[in-house]
Amino acid sequence: MISKLTMAALAALIAVPLVAFEESPVPQTANLQKMAARFAPTDIGADVSTLSPANRQVLAKLVEASKIVDTLFLRQAWAGNDAMHAVLVKDQTPEGRARLHYFLINKGPWSRLDHNEPFVPGAPAKPQGANFYPADASKAEIEKWIASLPEAERARATGFFTVVHRGANGGLTLVPYNVAYQGELTRAAALLRDAAGLTTEPTLKAFLTKRAAAFLSNDYYDSDVAWMELTGAIEPTIGPYEVYEDEIFNYKAAFESYVTVQDETETAKLQKFGGELQDIENNLPIDPKYRNPKLGALAPIVVVNEIFAAGDGNRGVQTAAFNLPNDERVIREKGSKRVMLKNVQDAKFAKTLTPISQIVLAPADQRALSFDAFFTHTVVHELMHGLGPHGITVGGRKTTVRQELKDTYSFIEEAKADISGLFAIQHMIDKGVLPKSLEQALYTTYLASTFRAIRFGVNEAHGKGIAVQLNYLIDQGGFIARADGTFAVNPEKIKDGVAGLTREIMTIEAEGSYAKAQALGERLGVVRPPVKSALDKMAAVPVDIEPRFTTADRLVAEANGQRK
Ligand code: ZN
Repeated sequence: MISKLTMAALAALIAVPLVAFEESPVPQTANLQKMAARFAPTDIGADVSTLSPANRQVLAKLVEASKIVDTLFLRQAWAGNDAMHAVLVKDQTPEGRARLHYFLINKGPWSRLDHNEPFVPGAPAKPQGANFYPADASKAEIEKWIASLPEAERARATGFFTVVHRGANGGLTLVPYNVAYQGELTRAAALLRDAAGLTTEPTLKAFLTKRAAAFLSNDYYDSDVAWMELTGAIEPTIGPYEVYEDEIFNYKAAFESYVTVQDETETAKLQKFGGELQDIENNLPIDPKYRNPKLGALAPIVVVNEIFAAGDGNRGVQTAAFNLPNDERVIREKGSKRVMLKNVQDAKFAKTLTPISQIVLAPADQRALSFDAFFTHTVVHELMHGLGPHGITVGGRKTTVRQELKDTYSFIEEAKADISGLFAIQHMIDKGVLPKSLEQALYTTYLASTFRAIRFGVNEAHGKGIAVQLNYLIDQGGFIARADGTFAVNPEKIKDGVAGLTREIMTIEAEGSYAKAQALGERLGVVRPPVKSALDKMAAVPVDIEPRFTTADRLVAEANGQRK
């Protein structure tokens, strides 16, 4: 039980009468522990032994700056978070400890895996606009106010880097991030400048110097460009980026940080794949007139290992990859970069996909499960987004796949990248670019991984796209649903199934056929009984990981002179 004193403090803090939370009970110790156990604690780190002592110090400084980002994000997510955190920290009862633990995982008193159900007594419903808008402002009031602003002001109001406050006169007013978060940003900027002073790598020095300046000026353009130009072993991402936490408008950027180092082996592999893409395009199993004879430049992809993640980048389910920046002007001029977090994916694979495979695969097939196959497919999935139809002509009219497929675009495009990714890997195996030994691992691992994705639901694009593939391949015979509840790959039929679905989906894209896309989603983007029973057996399998940043801890201790 949470202590009486703490309860009173919480009630006073959130100004909710005690009866309110007595009437709506929140989870207690065992339940809180069960909720937290869905995130399997996992050590996350990387080999930094080849880095120079100066570069190890750079990483330590970046970790310190990231800890400030954690504090900042907590405040961005909800105005009451700081005070609630301070109260929770003081509660030493087992229930209090369990509650604090789960609060830290979620970065607030709402369970992100459970439709943001509150789990701390007295917590209000999660504010849709987070702490970016006044808690008492309605969407209509904010919209009306934005519409009344002169154009330049309106652009700032709908921009990434301002918060909306209620002024003394009761009206709404804009506050830029460098003012709203001045204390934290000043300290973070100082740490970035320290790190810039330590490194000899010019692109890293440029990014850190420019990002530190951006924290103080609120102008992120130069530093976003510098981030696109990073080439060294250390690959940091720190700043205000994603807008998901602003559930009213998706305008405001939440602070996050990823301190990472490049993975050399995978980076080399990526370069090899890059050289194969035109050949893959030329051999796509579609009408040759839909193939692109000259692929454009590839969007850059880097594969890294995570040392530390913070803020919006470390709440609830962990980020496995991200695509940044989001600033349209930078994207137009410099493009955007895909960063894939290999060690995080490896941890998810070990803690979630391996136990899932023990449910959905027969014991003999479990041996074929392979992280290398999984990760290769994940990387090729990203590359395949760049292949196949994009700019198309429908009835003589020039348009794009995205425009024509509207709300079906996301699941179709995700399914395309997955299924044509299998096709592309098979093509490279057949050419001898990749080893023949990968083949069995590829399909078996992919089969198991579909269940992991569908577990997150078929209402979002990725899950729906996966359900389409799983059901298509089961109907076609490439995957088999056995009577004992397990699933298997049929090596006689899987390649035809993969090519067939690649053809079907890419043809829908080439034709820009919204009706066919919708029909495919309705027919196959569903959870059928055999899949449902497999999912029902997964209740005890962790949903994700809770990272413990072991390398970061060591680097910070080292920098503080406490070598261990
Ligand atoms: Zn994708």
